[in-house]
Amino acid sequence: MLFQRYGKFTGGIDVPEEKDSTVDKPISIPEATDSLRIPLMPCQTLPSQPTVTVGARIEPHQRIAAAMKDGIDIFAPLGGTVKSIDEKTIELADLTQPKGIPESSIETSWSDLDSVQLYQRLAESHLPTFGARGETMMGWINRAKKSQANTLIINAVECQPYVTADHRLLAEFGSEVITGSAILGKTIGVSKIIVAVDETHTDDYTELLETNAQYDIQCIALPRKYPIGADNILAYVLTRHEVPCGQDPESIGIAMAGPAECFSVYRWVVCGQRLGGRVVTISGMHAERPGNYFVPYGTDIHELMAPAEEPFIIGSPMIGRLCPEGSVVKPSTDAVVAIDPTIVGVPSQCIRCGWCHDHCPARLNVAVLNDHYELSDIAQAEHLGVLSCVECGVCSYICPARLPLAERTRKLKRAIKRRQTSMPLFTPAPKPPESDR
Ligand code: SF4
Ligand code: SF4
Repeated sequence: MLFQRYGKFTGGIDVPEEKDSTVDKPISIPEATDSLRIPLMPCQTLPSQPTVTVGARIEPHQRIAAAMKDGIDIFAPLGGTVKSIDEKTIELADLTQPKGIPESSIETSWSDLDSVQLYQRLAESHLPTFGARGETMMGWINRAKKSQANTLIINAVECQPYVTADHRLLAEFGSEVITGSAILGKTIGVSKIIVAVDETHTDDYTELLETNAQYDIQCIALPRKYPIGADNILAYVLTRHEVPCGQDPESIGIAMAGPAECFSVYRWVVCGQRLGGRVVTISGMHAERPGNYFVPYGTDIHELMAPAEEPFIIGSPMIGRLCPEGSVVKPSTDAVVAIDPTIVGVPSQCIRCGWCHDHCPARLNVAVLNDHYELSDIAQAEHLGVLSCVECGVCSYICPARLPLAERTRKLKRAIKRRQTSMPLFTPAPKPPESDR
């Protein structure tokens, strides 16, 4: 048996996988768009400053904005003409056609570089990370080094329904992902690397396993139980060490990355390529062309999904958010799902069924947290451990009263982190007029 198998946690739920329409679709090129609105703030940093002017002709991968403070330089994903510039975006029109993921070509023997040289090489990369946290690659590396992480976990479990972007990277570029994880591990100086995947897809990972034999990397296949891929849950499942309330896996010596980070690091360090887009899964019952696409940053999501009609969710329906008009593909956009508008329910009163508590993987009393949310009692919510919430969305999914519990716990966490002692979080719906009662 090539993959080791183990791992359990309390709580959680079986959610329908909903991946049949995309799981076997190779990464392909989306239909050409008319223009790109390239974000000047792809990570949670200060916006980069444009270095081009309106009307300028831009080559593919040309630098178009310079980093401010700890941010990153921005490079054009495709060639084009600068149509407009505002505080948040640079718009390119008259685009060259997207060509998808470039051919891999080895330019540098990374194993000849020591950790300092790899660090310097990555500092020149101006790469983003690809998670919701919105870090730059160097921000992530510096955080991992500062915490003196001794283990690197590559979280490729992808337990979110509909999403298959990481799976396709592992299936089609498994060797590059594994080598990228070895490069990251050497850069931050860990003694152990674990690649965790969903056990139902291991037959597709032959290339990954062949490369893995060259390195001392553990590959672990985990059973599907949502949300096993939440970073704090995965860290516990793999190491049996619990992440303290309100902390990240770094607090127990674990650095977490994903296949997209490993792949982009490999392409930069080994091939000298800075990828100008990411793999996005397009799915959902109303999606016209479900599949996995390598989409240039700045592509308009509504144009990408056309002719499907709203509503769209960015990410999986378990934790994603509704896609407003004008949204574009960024490093954190792993999926866009065209959902059925009728599934958005109207919240009613909590009936104290206890299901949210039974299934919460962080063992939180979510109904009581919801009471504190409605009372705007942030101190009590903190006392009850709301910072342990892994923002998986199980509570909202399972609640028969259709209360947006995960959204509320997320708002409570944000309020605590901003050190707010009180704020009006909840406004009760106005009572209907007498005549309607
Ligand atoms: S409270 Fe947080 S961790 Fe618990 S089920 Fe809800 S979203 Fe998940
Ligand atoms: S699942 Fe919903 S209705 Fe049931 S206890 Fe929790 S909040 Fe109340």
